[in-house]
Amino acid sequence: MKLIARRKEEQQETTTVRVGDVIIGGPQLVVIAGPCAIESYDQLLSTALEVQRLGATMLRGGAYKPRTSPYSFRGKGVGGLEMLAQIKALTGLPVVTEVMDARDIERVGLVADMFQIGSRNMQNYTLLTEIGKTKHPVFLKRGLASTLEEWIYAAEYIMAEGNDQVVLCERGIRTFETYTRNTVDITAIPALKELTHLPVFLDPSHGTGKWSLVNPVGLAGVAAGADGLMIEVHPQPELALSDGDQSLNFKHFAEFMDRLRPVAKAVGREVL
Ligand code: PEP
Ligand code: MN
Repeated sequence: MKLIARRKEEQQETTTVRVGDVIIGGPQLVVIAGPCAIESYDQLLSTALEVQRLGATMLRGGAYKPRTSPYSFRGKGVGGLEMLAQIKALTGLPVVTEVMDARDIERVGLVADMFQIGSRNMQNYTLLTEIGKTKHPVFLKRGLASTLEEWIYAAEYIMAEGNDQVVLCERGIRTFETYTRNTVDITAIPALKELTHLPVFLDPSHGTGKWSLVNPVGLAGVAAGADGLMIEVHPQPELALSDGDQSLNFKHFAEFMDRLRPVAKAVGREVL
């Protein structure tokens, strides 16, 4: 763990990762919000405008979706990337979107300000190596059954190629519990802060799988020291083509941001 490790115990500074105008790992608590999947121009635009108005500083949205069943909606692919490019130009929001396959890096990189490597691909060493050769920031989600050590080594794969712009994102791990989709490992946040100098995010949407739990668990992550949150938001979650059960509607996202501000302030962070 040569590159990722915090060098000295007294060195408390987190490395900052710059994505467009957004600085991850600094005093600002960064909220990345948007739909699980890009479904249509109007869906993405309305969500982008609303989350921006409410204080999110980056937009998320998947064009390539890793779905458990091959018969589920697998994303709009290139068409989704085109919508993302248009809405990025309109709103000025930097965008993060998943790249599932090393063959798509160039195409996705034309639009993405930050590459997302999803949970299912955390140990895709070809993908990690090829992404490491780019200059793009990388949002590396924790594998659904990965230890902190395995996750740290995955980040090291990227950094070993010369790309040190890596953000780690806890998104819940698989345990014996079935009530929630995953079990959020809040401990991972301060543990990674001890072990590494990289910014750490929490995704309470995939972590819980239930929209009603996103708000309290997100706040817990901020209290534990997360540098930002990734939240799924959809104009009509009941009609979403993926992850509707865990997506906040606009009203719930507004409430979430209201509750987030005082908690962020209490731990010395600002929210736009
Ligand atoms: C997502 O962000 O929509 C996603 C598929 O996340 P994960 O890889 O954490 O399951
Ligand atoms: Mn999702």
